[in-house]
Amino acid sequence: MISVAIDGPAGAGKSTIARAAAKALDFLYVDTGAMYRAIGLWVRRAGKDTHDGEAVSGCLPGIHLELGYENGVQQVYVNGENVSEAIRTPEASMDASAVSAIPAVREFLLEQQREIARKNNVIMDGRDIGTVVLPHAQVKIFLTASPEERARRRYEELCQKGEQVTYEDVLKDVVQRDHNDTNRAAAPLRQAEDAVLADTTGRSLEESIELIQGLIREKLKGAEA
Ligand code: C5P
Repeated sequence: MISVAIDGPAGAGKSTIARAAAKALDFLYVDTGAMYRAIGLWVRRAGKDTHDGEAVSGCLPGIHLELGYENGVQQVYVNGENVSEAIRTPEASMDASAVSAIPAVREFLLEQQREIARKNNVIMDGRDIGTVVLPHAQVKIFLTASPEERARRRYEELCQKGEQVTYEDVLKDVVQRDHNDTNRAAAPLRQAEDAVLADTTGRSLEESIELIQGLIREKLKGAEA
């Protein structure tokens, strides 16, 4: 099986780019952020503090997580409920960031993520795919862009969905999540030594997709040779 790991900070365009690349290569696209978001959502709904390791760990046995695909678009189910829309709010982003710092949550998801990669050719995106989840991935890309550009993209996306947000708030969230993800003890966000760095600042989405697909093709050719 072939694995492509795409890591990077929030809003770098990972999911859009990874989804397009997966379609072009006929690989399964796995958005691991959605799994953390689903857990964060469930913990909040249970009325627990998403920062409280003990309380969050206590929720895990009651969470059955499943990924499915509808017209090639990943759907996340918790205990049978499709939460794919509900996990996309700014509040759910911060909850995901909080629960993702808890080691028990990371352990809970690690095996599920590896299992998917054992059975499928995957493009998996997240924060720790190249460093922890799939250290032997044939292709590793660290995708980034400046915080301002990432905030602008996310702001436009949220506005299109009708969310009432300001650019300043979105930028603050992006910077806060970068800080959380980079400085946590458990599987922090960092570039794997053998990952290729791709900076999409100043590039259109189409240009970024082309750049990443080119990188993947080149690396896979090298892996076959
Ligand atoms: O990628 P996305 O923004 O949906 O991820 C939501 C949050 O989940 C991130 O801010 C990060 O804290 C966490 N996450 C993680 N490890 C991953 C994927 C996401 O810690 N592999």
